[in-house]
Amino acid sequence: MSKRFFEIASRFSKHSTCLKTKTGAIIVKNNEILSTGCNLCAPLGLSHGESVSVCPRITVKTGTNYELCQPLHAEVMACLNIRPNRKPEELAVFASHLRPSKDEVLQAFTKEERATLAGATLCLVGHYWACDGCRLVTETLGISNIQFDKITGMATETRYQKNNMT
Ligand SMILES: [Zn+2]
Ligand SMILES: [Zn+2]
Repeated sequence: MSKRFFEIASRFSKHSTCLKTKTGAIIVKNNEILSTGCNLCAPLGLSHGESVSVCPRITVKTGTNYELCQPLHAEVMACLNIRPNRKPEELAVFASHLRPSKDEVLQAFTKEERATLAGATLCLVGHYWACDGCRLVTETLGISNIQFDKITGMATETRYQKNNMT
């Protein structure tokens, strides 16, 4: 995967509202960018996209306690952003701890949107693995290839290991 796509994903990761780990994702097909996204957190009382000042998940192990900040992961956001300007309620269904079903995933996309996404590759910056929820969403949409940026992924992994978060 071309370095350029990771650089673009990295630019989008800067819009993340997560205080723990900022991730960015880009969906590419036939060398063309279809969609982008970053992870958004919504601790109790906030909705996705609002700025966050305290993260209750800041020191928890990776992949656990998603209910505390109800994150929307960058991988999922990049898929959802194939249709811009979705309502906060539409997005909230995809918060990681809610684990949307395959049917809920399919219902959130039109046939055309699914055809566009199918067979695409997702490039992720800022993390070294994708959670089961993201795998379910991407695989349901026909995106089975997730590529990780080695440099930022490794930085996150090293930081997590140091702080006993793996
Ligand atoms: Zn967070
Ligand atoms: Zn995830």
